[in-house]
Amino acid sequence: MKLGLLLIGFILTMTIFVAATGANGQTQGSIGQNNTSEVTPRDAYNRLLNTSVEMAYLDTMISLSQWDQDILMPENATEYRAGAQSYMADLKNKKWIDPEFGKLLSIANNGSNWSTIEAANLRIWNRNYGKRIKLPPDFAARESEMISKALAAWEKAREKDNYSIFQPHLKALVELNREKARYWGYKEHPYDALLDDFMPGMTAAKCDKLFETIKPQTIGLIVKIKNSRINGSDINGSGINDSNKTALKNIYGNAAYPEDKQEALLKNITSALGFDYGAGIMVKAKRNPSTYGIGAHDVRTSLRYDENNPEIALLDIIHECGHGIAGQRIPDEYYGMPIGTEPGMDMAEAEARIFENNLGRSRAFWQYWLPQMKKEFKPNMDNVSVDDMHRYINRLNIVPIRIDADEVSYIIHIIIRYEMERDLFEGKISVDDLPKIWNQKYREYLGLNITDDKDGILQDVHWACGSFGYFPAYALASMNAAQLEAAMRRDFTDLDQRLASGDSSIPAAWMQEHVYRYGAIYDTPELMKNATGNETEAYDFLNYLNSKYKQIYHLK
Ligand SMILES: [Zn+2]
Repeated sequence: MKLGLLLIGFILTMTIFVAATGANGQTQGSIGQNNTSEVTPRDAYNRLLNTSVEMAYLDTMISLSQWDQDILMPENATEYRAGAQSYMADLKNKKWIDPEFGKLLSIANNGSNWSTIEAANLRIWNRNYGKRIKLPPDFAARESEMISKALAAWEKAREKDNYSIFQPHLKALVELNREKARYWGYKEHPYDALLDDFMPGMTAAKCDKLFETIKPQTIGLIVKIKNSRINGSDINGSGINDSNKTALKNIYGNAAYPEDKQEALLKNITSALGFDYGAGIMVKAKRNPSTYGIGAHDVRTSLRYDENNPEIALLDIIHECGHGIAGQRIPDEYYGMPIGTEPGMDMAEAEARIFENNLGRSRAFWQYWLPQMKKEFKPNMDNVSVDDMHRYINRLNIVPIRIDADEVSYIIHIIIRYEMERDLFEGKISVDDLPKIWNQKYREYLGLNITDDKDGILQDVHWACGSFGYFPAYALASMNAAQLEAAMRRDFTDLDQRLASGDSSIPAAWMQEHVYRYGAIYDTPELMKNATGNETEAYDFLNYLNSKYKQIYHLK
């Protein structure tokens, strides 16, 4: 039962906004009732659209059920609910694998003069359908059985802090994904096929180019920060007792920050950022923070509260609110269409990170919001200045656990996983060697000594879920966020003044104009090019990190 939840917890981070209002009032008969021999491409398209809307309705009910399971459902209901959910998932799958779907698609593919939206829908149907039919009929069942066993083994391995329990399952999953890559096909690298599944258009060659640029510079920046006079108790092995260094004080002190007051402040902040509470709710998470795009005008965010540390809820909700605003602003007419979502995980996460990091950790943002926060929690933060807040919320935290890392070292956590996945699928390294390589890389890049598997190679659920090619999305999203922010600042040169005076609406408005309104019409590379002038690049991200940390840590 725990496994189901874990799996869902991970899937949630993918935040797929599939929605379900009728698409343009199509009223065609359902697939299978009509002979396809006299069907025109236009008819075929309309029938595909109809099926797509039906699938989106099913997705809505599946998401609602998952949300309920995650947030409210009593624990003992897990097993029965799993049956109900898998029945609904199966109903959806049957629509996909119906041979009629393929026939209609090939008829529609003979059509011409499609609008931009129609052509994009056809492109995505072809891509998704093509991937399904390239796999042998028993593949999905084999995969799902393997994942469920791997998840159980992963849990046990973590419990016992012993990688060898998980190792045979990981080996089997890697082999299965190699097989998958062969079926799907690729031009240069088997890993490309897997990357493309999460981020259409992404390749190992593109990742190599970006990561090889940012890795040395990020590591160099970490060293500079560690050596700076202002330093933090969170910095591993940084010599905090060194009298030349100023310890970073905990700006929240030991005071209490009641949950209801935190909630009130966060509602103000998220509303100002553009989250619409008429089309969304914010609730307390049972486990991890999440955003569910249930359907049209129904987005649900959740967050964690800690009454001694308001920063947890703050950063949770600003991140989730980024997902939420994007989901709420998908144009109504896209609901039920394949374009009614983000183009890939590298954009979906960028939509959240631009709010959480680029905005929510910026000085200008806190110039306005810190006084509000102080008022809410008086007298707890009376002595905290904007600079204190800015520095503390951006403090370096070099730790073995990825999700606890700061914004700078986080990138290195991702690059380590990327390099290992790439080499695995290239056949350069084997599953048996992973813990050794993992620990070596952590030592070499971050100076960390990993002493156990639990906080080392076993920390993430992704591999147990059979997800290879997903991790790079986290780093690419940070780059996309910085690049989008830079483009936004070119359009709004007074962005900081506006933020500092309390106008927090510009980021969502700019993103609406350049990103949200396109849904998945374009894949990320093209969308980035249209919005910023270039596909994903390292330049703006490095510039963003360097200038922020230079200011905070007084670096040269
Ligand atoms: Zn996210």
